[in-house]
Amino acid sequence: MAYTVINPADETVVTTVQRLDIEEVDAAIFGATVAQKEWARRAPLDRATLLRRFAEAVDRDLENLAQLETRNSGHPITQARGEAASVRDVLEYYSGAPERLIGQQIPVSGGMNVTFHEPMGVIGIITPWNFPMSIAAWGFAPALAAGNAVLLKPAEWTSLTSIRLGELALEAGLPEGLFQVTPGQGPVVGERFVTHPDVRKVVFTGSTEVGKRIMAGASEQVKRVTLELGGKSANIIFGDADVEAAALAAPSSVFDNAGQDCCARSRLLVQRGVFDRFMNVFEGAVQDLRVGDPLDPDTEMGPLVTLSHRDHVTSFVDDDSLVAFRGSCPSGPGAWFPPTVMTPSRDHRVVEEEVFGPVVAVLPFDDEADAIKIANDSKYGLSGSIWTQDLSRAIRVSRAVESGTLSVNSHSSVRYSAPFGGMKQSGIGRELGPDAPLQFSETKSVFYAASEN
Ligand code: NDP
Repeated sequence: MAYTVINPADETVVTTVQRLDIEEVDAAIFGATVAQKEWARRAPLDRATLLRRFAEAVDRDLENLAQLETRNSGHPITQARGEAASVRDVLEYYSGAPERLIGQQIPVSGGMNVTFHEPMGVIGIITPWNFPMSIAAWGFAPALAAGNAVLLKPAEWTSLTSIRLGELALEAGLPEGLFQVTPGQGPVVGERFVTHPDVRKVVFTGSTEVGKRIMAGASEQVKRVTLELGGKSANIIFGDADVEAAALAAPSSVFDNAGQDCCARSRLLVQRGVFDRFMNVFEGAVQDLRVGDPLDPDTEMGPLVTLSHRDHVTSFVDDDSLVAFRGSCPSGPGAWFPPTVMTPSRDHRVVEEEVFGPVVAVLPFDDEADAIKIANDSKYGLSGSIWTQDLSRAIRVSRAVESGTLSVNSHSSVRYSAPFGGMKQSGIGRELGPDAPLQFSETKSVFYAASEN
């Protein structure tokens, strides 16, 4: 059965996509198990070379991938180009891994003990709709590098770039069956990754609700999981910070990708003494944000991903008296929503729940202890920023905030060379960084007895 993909900027039909059913998913899993065994036997240099060729194929197709993402997801074209380039870079980075999966030689008596990093087998990756290609690459590049096969189930709303990446892998010479894109419904295709015994690990990025189901289901087979489940991250502005710089940088920290970002700093904590000064500069910066046609290279924020998602986002702005100010957005067809700045109470729903849209809640705080208390008063712990010119405070607060990925005096986005992931209900496990291939391998310890001559 096919479904229709809609351009969120103008509500036109982009294309239709064929959904896989359970039998087709099972056939894909079988093909992957066969391909994986052959892949794991290949020389590390062969695997590295093919991953480099895959990166080159992505590079040649960069503009096409970016255009596809813009039409499918509404991402501003400049950002979409960056996302396509990041897929290439992640593949290049992990193409170094097959030849560097180095085990240990452990001193023991009576022989020799060594460890091997064995591939797990078939990995099922379930991706969300907010950064379709980048998040897919964070999983498939290190997984393939570690000698696994990969099945990728993209979110239904945004499957087009993933499907194209599957084609590019084949064009680059990756063996048939090794990296397959399996579009379809979450409860059908995604669920099958959880229940099928030949899928040895599930990597899931998406809602906490579905993530919990996946973890519960995976426990039946003690299946490995990596979960990345969103956040409600704090951007903390201390009175001793460069307040103007912090206010000018704040819009991108929460309105990039129209706020559809698990790392969005959607709680903005500002120390009372500089609150008014901060808000004044912040308001100008929000109103200067260029929201509009995603194909225009100067556009900074596009539409939301679908009309139904816009309804979800709208539900958080239920009281106009809490809206401090808003930016602009086009009217007419498309899932448009203006950047919106709210000043709610600390217990308002918009402070607690992930909005996944361009809505930020600004809260004043008294002192360092109060800022840390508010920042940690969340079930999530994914990302966040700290603005201060006091180095000791930067060290204290970055250690005290319960979050997996923080930046000081910047809003650093995800870097493929550094680990990324969340604490608390933001997830389990880490993606990216030098150790990511180890998340896709099992350590095997072997003792070789050596008799005395
Ligand atoms: P979901 O968690 O429903 O979807 C994420 C992925 O999981 C999609 O590929 C989806 O497939 C799949 N999926 C859905 N149900 C199952 C299932 N039972 N078993 C296996 N896979 C499944 O997120 P939503 O798209 O509904 O977004 C809801 C909210 O989640 C957002 O508003 C946001 O708050 C949060 N979210 C967080 C993200 C993050 O980066 N951490 C990313 C996206 C959303 P299908 O497309 O078919 O539904």
